[in-house]
Amino acid sequence: MKLVTASIFRLMEYIGELPLLLAIRRGLAMVLPLIIAGSLALLLLNIPIPGFQSFLDDTLGAQWRTLCTLIEQGSFGIASLAVLISIVSAYARDKGSLINGIGVNPVVTTAVCLSAYFVAAAPLDGNILQGFFSLGSGGFPIALCIAITSAPLFLFLMRFSPLNNFLSSAGDDSDVNGALAAIPAGIATIFIFGLVRLFLNQAGFTDLHNQAQFLFGAPFQGAGNTLSTGLGYIALSQSLWFFGLHGPNLLFLAENQILSPASLANIQAVSQGVEPSFILTKPFLDAFVHIGGSGSTLALILAILLRSKVISNRRLALIAILPALFNVNEVILFGLPLVLNPIYAIPFLLAPVVQTAVAYWATFLHLVPMTVNDIHWTTPLGFGGYAATGAISGAVLQVICMAVGIVVYLPFVELGNILNARRFKRSMNVLMAVAGTADQKPSKRCLDLPGQEGMLAKALAADLTRALDCDDQIYLVYQPQIDADKGKVVGAEALLRWKHPIHGLIPPHVAVALAEDADIIGRLGLRILLDACTQHAVLLQKGVRDCVLAVNMSAAQFEDVKLVEKIVDVLEKTGLEPTMLKVEVTESIALTPDASSVAILRDLRAIGIRVAIDDFGMGHTSLRYLREFPVDTVKIDRCFTQESAAGVNDHIIASIVQLCEAMGIQIIVEGVETVAQLERFRAQRCSLFQGYLFSQPLSGEGYVDFICQRQVVIPKN
Ligand code: C2E
Ligand code: CA
Ligand code: CA
Repeated sequence: MKLVTASIFRLMEYIGELPLLLAIRRGLAMVLPLIIAGSLALLLLNIPIPGFQSFLDDTLGAQWRTLCTLIEQGSFGIASLAVLISIVSAYARDKGSLINGIGVNPVVTTAVCLSAYFVAAAPLDGNILQGFFSLGSGGFPIALCIAITSAPLFLFLMRFSPLNNFLSSAGDDSDVNGALAAIPAGIATIFIFGLVRLFLNQAGFTDLHNQAQFLFGAPFQGAGNTLSTGLGYIALSQSLWFFGLHGPNLLFLAENQILSPASLANIQAVSQGVEPSFILTKPFLDAFVHIGGSGSTLALILAILLRSKVISNRRLALIAILPALFNVNEVILFGLPLVLNPIYAIPFLLAPVVQTAVAYWATFLHLVPMTVNDIHWTTPLGFGGYAATGAISGAVLQVICMAVGIVVYLPFVELGNILNARRFKRSMNVLMAVAGTADQKPSKRCLDLPGQEGMLAKALAADLTRALDCDDQIYLVYQPQIDADKGKVVGAEALLRWKHPIHGLIPPHVAVALAEDADIIGRLGLRILLDACTQHAVLLQKGVRDCVLAVNMSAAQFEDVKLVEKIVDVLEKTGLEPTMLKVEVTESIALTPDASSVAILRDLRAIGIRVAIDDFGMGHTSLRYLREFPVDTVKIDRCFTQESAAGVNDHIIASIVQLCEAMGIQIIVEGVETVAQLERFRAQRCSLFQGYLFSQPLSGEGYVDFICQRQVVIPKN
């Protein structure tokens, strides 16, 4: 059983992360501003509050209608086009921009695929703005199809471009080179789509939308007003939606021949004082099945708000809930998105099918009357059920159907949580590996990563920026540093902790790398310094004056020419002497192109602040740089401590010790976990230590207590 679930998870993850599906998801989400603008306009034009529109007419003049119509046309009306552009550019960016050494700007790919779309789909007889740019009338699925076929085709053909070799060393502007190199593949792609179109035309597929309507209408020819017709209609409509095809539009013939006549017959029957006789009507489906729009998306939104741990989905659900109350569901359809989303494929089909069955049986068993009124499709939950049936029981049934929808969606929202947690873990592993690498500016280490990792990095960077403004997410812990000869605490290193509200503790070097990428390292660094100095000042009040506070600083912080001023400012505010502060920097600071950071270190030392080189022995500098570098302390990296006492390491340490003694530099050994390690280093004349053997990093108060005890028992074998 475990094996089966594991393979299902793997399969879902595999499908969910196929580059094309990923591009569709990102592409759809990127057109959200349009969709939301369109939804609002649509809502205002159709909101079913009596007198609302005429109130606006009176107060604003009839112009507001023109404005809303323009917005609707300019957003929903070109949504297919926008979707094509954003999917293609998302895909092109994700695939990276270097193909065989030629830089292909995503815009080039987008332009080619856009052209392919027009060649393949624009109506022969002009008036192109109508129809195929828009959401509803068949443009959208064609745009989807062409986006996901033209982008891979173009980038594939780029590999064989005869101009690649010719241009790869041409230098100058790489974007222009890329665009020139793209000419053959671009022409070929556009041409191929033209050929496909010709072929389709000759095969008789001239008006795909119309023909599809006939095709999907066929199964319902002569069908009765029965439960199976209802289930078939809803199942087909939802399946079409899943592939981005506007279900109700394509099933227009079925609506026209079965649903609408049935509604009319019921209304007429009532007006003639006869019992209505049709269960399956358009208002029936609108009231009991399309709650919140096709796919009963209001139920999905509530299920997400009830159980989802995916923060972006929760935010989206909050935005989507207002339009969904009036059955406008484009926001969730695009934002989540529902289209081609493997997680929601099943409930998106199942919820409406189950609702149809429940509502049908409830009506069949006379628990609820048949529909006797036409309702506007925007009539909200509760009102719709009442208005369609003319009975309170209709409203109750609508709420029950909604609850049924939530129950169907909930397990899949949970599944989404599990998949999201797994994805987070994998992406975080990548971020940790990337954050650990030396910073090679100007590229951003984490934010520029392609795929899921880049998305996670961007989301976390945004969260970190917000976290800087609140008190409870970012805090420090302190790890004591011990003089083993005297058995005393001599100082402590402040270590950053970021507790993310959803993901928990984020590794500090990932947080630092994100802050560097997002250009907020200056703010974060200053916050850390201020917090640490404020905490250390508590020790001064208790009379402890000979403890040194070590604070980590990243190389990026040294790009700030006012760094010294800012540090002095913090010291003055908190009442610390400069000699009580030590900044820990890694060797990479010596590698930055200009020497200004080394000059800043000199300035810091000149006013009495101490400087330590962190992770010594790990980087490229090591012994050679020690002579030129203004330092007081060298921290021997954990990897030397953890390794076995094999000869080579001991030799290296012996020479570090010798050199440091000669230059009057203090040594602190990091990551000491065992007595054996301690003895090994003491035998090498090292006396200052930091590590789990003495103490884990402690909270601010824990650290003050630890120091106030002063005396430390040095463990022995
Ligand atoms: P680091 O400066 O080398 O910090 C020492 C790390 O070793 C800390 O990890 C500490 O918890 C861990 N450690 C201490 N004793 C032991 C031990 O006995 N055994 C083992 N296995 N580990 C031990 P932490 O807190 O996860 O920090 C990781 C890195 O993140 C730090 O390495 C530092 O480079 C960076 N960092 C942490 N706080 C800050 C900060 O405030 N600013 C900046 N720029 N970087 C920070
Ligand atoms: Ca450190
Ligand atoms: Ca270190």
